[in-house]
Amino acid sequence: MYDFIVVGAGFAGSVVAERIANVLDKKVLIIDKRNHIGGNCFDYYDGSGILIHKYGPHIFHTIYKDVWNYLSKFTSWIDYEHKVLALINGKKVPIPFNLNTLHKLFPEPIARKIETKLKKKIGEEKKISILKLKKSDDKDLKLLGDFIYENMFKNYSLKQWGRGLDELDPDVGERVPVFISRDDRYFQDRFQGIPKHGYTEIFKKMLSHPNIEIKLNTDFKDVFNIDFQKGKVFYQNEEFKGKIIYTGEPDELFNYRFGKLPYRSLKFVFKTIEKEFFQEAAVINYPNDFDYTRITEYKHFTRQKSNFTTFSKEYPQNYDKTVAGKNVPFYPIPTKNNYELYEKYRRLTLKFKNILLLGRLAEYKYLNMDLVIKNALKLFDEGISNAG
Ligand SMILES: Cc1cc2nc3c(=O)[nH]c(=O)nc-3n(C[C@H](O)[C@H](O)[C@H](O)COP(=O)(O)OP(=O)(O)OC[C@H]3O[C@@H](n4cnc5c(N)ncnc54)[C@H](O)[C@@H]3O)c2cc1C
Repeated sequence: MYDFIVVGAGFAGSVVAERIANVLDKKVLIIDKRNHIGGNCFDYYDGSGILIHKYGPHIFHTIYKDVWNYLSKFTSWIDYEHKVLALINGKKVPIPFNLNTLHKLFPEPIARKIETKLKKKIGEEKKISILKLKKSDDKDLKLLGDFIYENMFKNYSLKQWGRGLDELDPDVGERVPVFISRDDRYFQDRFQGIPKHGYTEIFKKMLSHPNIEIKLNTDFKDVFNIDFQKGKVFYQNEEFKGKIIYTGEPDELFNYRFGKLPYRSLKFVFKTIEKEFFQEAAVINYPNDFDYTRITEYKHFTRQKSNFTTFSKEYPQNYDKTVAGKNVPFYPIPTKNNYELYEKYRRLTLKFKNILLLGRLAEYKYLNMDLVIKNALKLFDEGISNAG
């Protein structure tokens, strides 16, 4: 038998499994309902030899040196600093909105006036949220906030979430900044890159250990039973007393007893053409035009040499567990009601001493890869290796 069972072979599950196997020298089973490891970070070479990210573009970036050092044990890196353009009023401009964007979209005298005010009132190289700008008592800064909101934010959010911003947690709006800088990079984190041989190779290295057994195409609900009365968990009809690290959807874990947690899903339509490059940046966003939110061209990440290139158009859609193509839960929907519902599932989990929730689904939170890895390392240190 196993000492630990991990449900889900994304970063959350794989990091924990790797630590248990290497540091504790214990046996761990990792299951995933998909036919591959890597969770949403899974990448592979398509028919024309281009490395693509099956579940959308993934750029690694972090401020945490410990996370960077940990991941660097499993990969070397391609230097890559992410830059994103957005099509606004017929022009492709850098986002998040910065001083270069300002000068591209506004007539020069107005742009200069606003730049001076931003620097004076907020400060050079500082960030301010669009919602704060919208509330500014300076009429030019308020105008800027309103402009960005209307042209870059409002419709994008409608497409992305299928609902207006007023229906979402106010945090969503607070997170979108204006950067008072000429720095066009999407992230300012100290550590940034793309894994030299892709993400899937990282997972293969992490999980290649005699203490780790991987079972793919294996759904938690098909091999586990939960006895709510006794607070016990059964794996293949035998009581499992070791720890279970669960990185899937928490409502599914408990048979939806409080109701379904809503998610937003995505559809990626991939296309390969015979051309060196299709577009001028890895990612171009379309806040106002078309049904898709963005186009990603993968060669920009790897700088592969090829006469072919592959890009994907990304269409947000409702999540429906029962419909193929709509059944991947990409984003928890950030509303107060949903967080309250999640909290019920989290509290119920606490009754089962040997089930630990980890990762972006189980924590019902959008988390970048670095935070998922950081949380997994923390859970291992504090909740697994020290737990006795
Ligand atoms: C479109 C998109 C783009 C992103 N881009 C970036 C980026 O550029 N940079 C960044 O840092 N982060 C990015 N992220 C976030 C990143 O994908 C996550 O941080 C990461 O995938 C989380 O890892 P995880 O292990 O928690 O979840 P996942 O990767 O989703 O892994 C969970 C695994 O659990 C399995 N599972 C679920 N339920 C069950 C079950 N019942 N039985 C068995 N297995 C189960 C799933 O099949 C899945 O493989 C992006 C996310 C999205 C959606």
